[in-house]
Amino acid sequence: MGEFQSWFSTDADCLDYLEWLRWPEGFVCPDCGGLGGWRLGDGRFRCASCRLCTSVTAGTIFDRTRTPLTVWFTACWLFATQKDGISAQSLQRALEISSYQTAWAMLHRLRSVLVRPGRERLTGTVEVDETFIGGEEPGLRGGRAKGKKSLVGMAIEVHEPKGLGRCRMAILADASSASLHPFVAAHVEPGATVITDAWQGYSGINELGYTRDRRSQRATRLRGDDAFGLLPGVHRVASLAKRWLLGTHQGSVDEAHLQAYLDEFVFRFNRRTARSRGLVFHRVLELAVGHEPVRYHDLILNPQPKTHPPHGRPGWGHPPTLDRAPAYRPWRVA
Ligand SMILES: [Zn+2]
Repeated sequence: MGEFQSWFSTDADCLDYLEWLRWPEGFVCPDCGGLGGWRLGDGRFRCASCRLCTSVTAGTIFDRTRTPLTVWFTACWLFATQKDGISAQSLQRALEISSYQTAWAMLHRLRSVLVRPGRERLTGTVEVDETFIGGEEPGLRGGRAKGKKSLVGMAIEVHEPKGLGRCRMAILADASSASLHPFVAAHVEPGATVITDAWQGYSGINELGYTRDRRSQRATRLRGDDAFGLLPGVHRVASLAKRWLLGTHQGSVDEAHLQAYLDEFVFRFNRRTARSRGLVFHRVLELAVGHEPVRYHDLILNPQPKTHPPHGRPGWGHPPTLDRAPAYRPWRVA
């Protein structure tokens, strides 16, 4: 943390780092693609070809943010370096900002960059299964009230003789083959061996280019093995994900945002052996500066986010820098 603070003590430090991440070979105009330009006195760039004036944050998730970059970087640091992540309430407290919504929206903007378009699919031997997540409200009959739980598809690479690789998780409409086949196709590279239980929704995946290894619960019991050990990889992922949602986020994850939390869980799980948390921080920022802006409107689908944390903490003040002017907007010289 001390090293982090000495690296990024001013917005100019943060801008330099983002510039290095976004344009490692030098300025590239986001509008005309032209190479080369001038850095203006205020830190912006002017394209040598089309004369567009822009900033390194324009067109990224930091575009038009009213939050200082130093605050953004601290949020990003806490998000990346805490092994289990951070809740909006804890982030609000750590940043000492008055708005719970600001902390909430920052975390959701960070989550939204974690899934890179065109990321590689899983390969080798992959276990696939579904589980219900969310909606565990005490008092509800069986905890299975309709619309409260979401069906989630899980896929994970399993290594021989043991060990787990990367995983993927996505919300499914239902457990029919019309839902499961596209899930497998989206997340598993053809040619892989796909281990599933005997559920008929997986019938026919061989025709999509996979070798299905169908494990029957009954056959496992007859062998005297533990039936729960049928698909140990996906069960491990499911229990870790549920524990994480209940731990870091106290289970207060609504259905509309569940996929974003699953994306964060998968990102963390796939980096569980990362040697340096600093590298994870670097990666999150790299994804953030390569991602188009995420409007607040797009984050608050339904239901509305709470305007206050579950337990209010009055008296937390704004650091004075939060009141500064909006970020630069691109403009063109006539
Ligand atoms: Zn240009």
